[in-house]
Order: sequence, then structure tokens, then C-alpha cells
Amino acid sequence: MPDSPASPSPQGSPVRGGVRVHERGPHLRAFGAGIFLWENGLTVLRELGAADAVLADSHEAPGWQERDADGTQIGSRPLPLPNGLRMVTLTRQTLYSALLEQAKASGVQVRTRSRVVAAGPEGVLRTADGRAWPADLVVGADGIRSAVRESLGLTAEHGTFPIGLYRFLVPLDRAPGEHGPWRDYVNYWNTRLARRVLYVPCNSRDLYLLLSAEHTDPALRTPLDADVWCESFPVLRSVLADLPPRPRFDRYEIVRLRRWSTGRAAVLGDAAHAMPPTIGQGAGTAMINALNLARAVAAAAPGDIPAALHGWETAGRPVTEQTQQESLDALRGLFPRAGERRDEVWTEGTLNAARNVPTP
Ligand SMILES: Cc1cc2nc3c(=O)[nH]c(=O)nc-3n(C[C@H](O)[C@H](O)[C@H](O)COP(=O)(O)OP(=O)(O)OC[C@H]3O[C@@H](n4cnc5c(N)ncnc54)[C@H](O)[C@@H]3O)c2cc1C
Repeated sequence: MPDSPASPSPQGSPVRGGVRVHERGPHLRAFGAGIFLWENGLTVLRELGAADAVLADSHEAPGWQERDADGTQIGSRPLPLPNGLRMVTLTRQTLYSALLEQAKASGVQVRTRSRVVAAGPEGVLRTADGRAWPADLVVGADGIRSAVRESLGLTAEHGTFPIGLYRFLVPLDRAPGEHGPWRDYVNYWNTRLARRVLYVPCNSRDLYLLLSAEHTDPALRTPLDADVWCESFPVLRSVLADLPPRPRFDRYEIVRLRRWSTGRAAVLGDAAHAMPPTIGQGAGTAMINALNLARAVAAAAPGDIPAALHGWETAGRPVTEQTQQESLDALRGLFPRAGERRDEVWTEGTLNAARNVPTP
């Protein structure tokens, strides 16, 4: 949650000409296990000088596969994609550490245990300790349940879908082999039980697993029952036999706003445009919109910031909304029907979302 203070406040101390991040947690840390980063996210990392550090500890699989619960292949797509479109996987901690290093090198200050409760269009951030932090620009990047968004009255829609999922990392050496399909990304489907395991190598050490099902499915009860998941996916027994009892749980959600900003206060990332993670684009979209926000305001005089925010939204919103729509379309046909082939792994719209260009 960055602010960019302009003048001293009677309560909050200013960072002249700089950026301060307020984080409610006691420590800076990533959560959510692994992540897919597409071309849009990689473009941002290159721009920030963080791409080398991230790519050195990420994985670029030779292919994507769709398999049924016994391991029979029902679809595949070779990688990398045509025309240089890249997709890599990594742990969230790798991404977070590289971004944090660049932020600190740029002089960004971070206040942990600083919970934001509201923001105002005049450019003031208010924290739970009763302090006010005036700034040229306030950005609410405070996630799906954004306090900044709610205080500014910007929400148009916040919906939750009936799918639940767990995410966690296991050692990659539990996978039955280092070559062939075990280096690929694989979506495993149990069509009878409507359960899914997404299998994602992240680097030479970590395997990211995502377990999902209808949110009422008893298989999602904690502590997680490894036997239930091993029986549902016999071919994955070696990686499912020792599950963390209570990994991070999420539901698929969507957020749409009336506007992305008001006055000197803007909302960014999941706070502004959360989407189901069906096409792996939530963070990539947040990152490219953040880069474009920085470009828009860097060129603006303090008095022109509201207009710069308006221009930023006008330019970025159409592709963001198409990307959200792609994620919703992918959700509708998420679970294959028995006997269905899955060779069309990504639509042209999904690939355009990754390129951050509109689909005609
Ligand atoms: C299951 C799943 C899989 C996903 N997979 C992918 C993927 O492969 N690729 C991809 O691009 N995206 C993926 N996403 C989406 C991605 O995780 C999000 O889009 C991304 O994390 C959004 O980043 P953010 O910074 O906007 O919000 P968050 O990551 O939610 O960060 C918000 C931050 O603000 C802090 N905060 C919250 N409230 C306050 C407050 N009041 N005061 C101060 N601090 C506060 C939080 O502690 C946190 O540090 C996935 C999402 C899910 C649920």
C-alpha cells in the first residue's frame, strides 16, 4: 500500500519525494506457494532490473499437459509458445524477494504492522493507529478485501465462486522422475469427482501443487486427508502422500470497480480487478498496470495527478476487463467432461492477455 507523502503531517512523518509502503503484517513475506508469470509480468521485471534474479530461480517447462486421474494424457501444448511469448513458474518468495530488493534500492520505505483503514481523494491515507499520512498520490494495493477501495466507495462488484483450493510447495525430489512429463506443467483431472491437481515445477527444488474442488467437497476439509487425494489421483501418490495439514485456502473471486481512482487516490491489483486464477493473470495484470501507473504519474506535475490517473485507467482498463472475461470464460469450462480432449489449452484471448494487447 504505497503512499507518496508531499508535506509533513501533524501525525505521520513525511518521506519527501519518495514512496512509503504500509504493510499490515508484522513481516514482509510472500504467501500462496508458486506462481505463473507470463510475458506481461516479465516485461515489468525487465523494466525494474529484476528479471535476471527471477529467471535464475524459475522454471520454463518444455510443455503443458492435461491428464486424467490415472495419468492418461487428454491434451497437450508444447512450450515455449510461438512468437517469443514466454511463461515461467517460480515460487512467490522468489518474485517477492526480487521486487523488494529493487524497491529498497530505489529508496522505498516500508512500515510493517501499519494497517490502513481508509484513504481520501485529497490524498490522505489513514492507519489503524489513528495517524493520517498526506501524499501527492495514495495507491491502495491492499488485495481483494481492500480497505482503501471500500473507503473510497469504488466497488461495483465483488463476487465469490463455488470452487475452493489449497496451494503449497513440496520438495521436487518427491516427483517420480526429473525428466519427461515430470518437468512439464500438468493439470490432472478426476472428472468423476470434479477434483483437480495442478502440478507445477518451480525451480530445481520446489514443486507447487494446487488442489481444487467444489467448495463443499469433503476432500477440502482440514486437516487435509492425504488418502482421499491419493485415491483420487493414484498417479500422484508420491507427491500427495504427505500433505501439509492446513495449507493456504482460497476461493475464486472477482472484483470490478466503478472507477480505478478518485482525486489523488488510486486502487491497483486485486483490490481493483481480482479475477479467478484460471489463466494465471492476476499478478501479471497487476504488475503491468502498476508499471503504467508509475509512468503516468512520473510525467505529471502534482496538480495534474488526478488527470494522469484518469488517463492511466482509460488506457489500461479495456485489456484488464478482457483479461477478467477470459478468466471467467475459462472458469465456465474448468472441469473436463468424461472423455473430453483438451488440446486447446489457451485461447487467443488468453495469449493476448499475456501480451497485454486487446483481442479484436
Ligand atoms: C489460487 C490462486 C492462484 C493464483 N495464481 C496466479 C498465477 O499463477 N499468476 C498470476 O499472475 N496470478 C495468480 N493469482 C493472482 C495473484 O495471486 C494476485 O492477483 C496477486 O497476488 C495480487 O497482488 P496484490 O498485490 O494486488 O494483492 P495481494 O497479493 O493480496 O497483496 C496485498 C498486500 O496488502 C496487504 N494488506 C491488505 N490489507 C491491508 C491493509 N488494510 N493495510 C495494510 N496492508 C494491507 C496484505 O498483507 C498484502 O501484503 C492467483 C490467485 C489465486 C487465489
